[in-house]
Amino acid sequence: ERRPVACHRVAMVGAPGVGKTALISQFQTSECINAYDRQRGKDADGSEQKVSIMLNGEESEFHFLTGSPEKKEEIERAEPPDAFVVIYSVVDKASFQKSEQELARLLDCDMLRARPALLVGNKIDLARSRAVSTQDGKCLACTYKAKFIEVSVGINHNVDELLVGILTQIRLKRQQY
Ligand code: GDP
Repeated sequence: ERRPVACHRVAMVGAPGVGKTALISQFQTSECINAYDRQRGKDADGSEQKVSIMLNGEESEFHFLTGSPEKKEEIERAEPPDAFVVIYSVVDKASFQKSEQELARLLDCDMLRARPALLVGNKIDLARSRAVSTQDGKCLACTYKAKFIEVSVGINHNVDELLVGILTQIRLKRQQY
């Protein structure tokens, strides 16, 4: 008998161009993915995308939410997501500042107490153009009690680790609340 699959809604937050769309596409080709139904992968408006993964013998499904900011805030108020992935680009200082604003906003509306946030620095393959240090990323994450990881969607570095990290954080928070 098949156990029901846990569904987790994950908000992908960040400035335009930091790699949110590329990251979700990369998740969908990840080796930890057990099954992915391409037919169901996208909503009619393209704003929600699904990935299912198997971790520690338990299958979970992610719904990634990537709407416009207005829409996101509506979503958060109506039905908050289970986790927030706040993304910036390490070659774009303004996107890092934007990620700080987003974390502050989420803290203000009390979204972070019962829900995990992960701060993600993307595009570390562009090492020579780096404008945000690893240390600055760590400090920001620490301030908001978020997990921190640097990735490169472009060269598929740490993408599986991030996917597993999101699920692990959601399961840990579930045990606490
Ligand atoms: P979004 O607006 O946040 O959804 O960003 P996109 O996913 O559309 O990515 C914006 C651009 O950054 C695209 O041209 C991607 O190919 C590029 N990009 C995304 N991730 C990486 C990365 O890790 N390294 C590099 N060099 N480019 C990336």
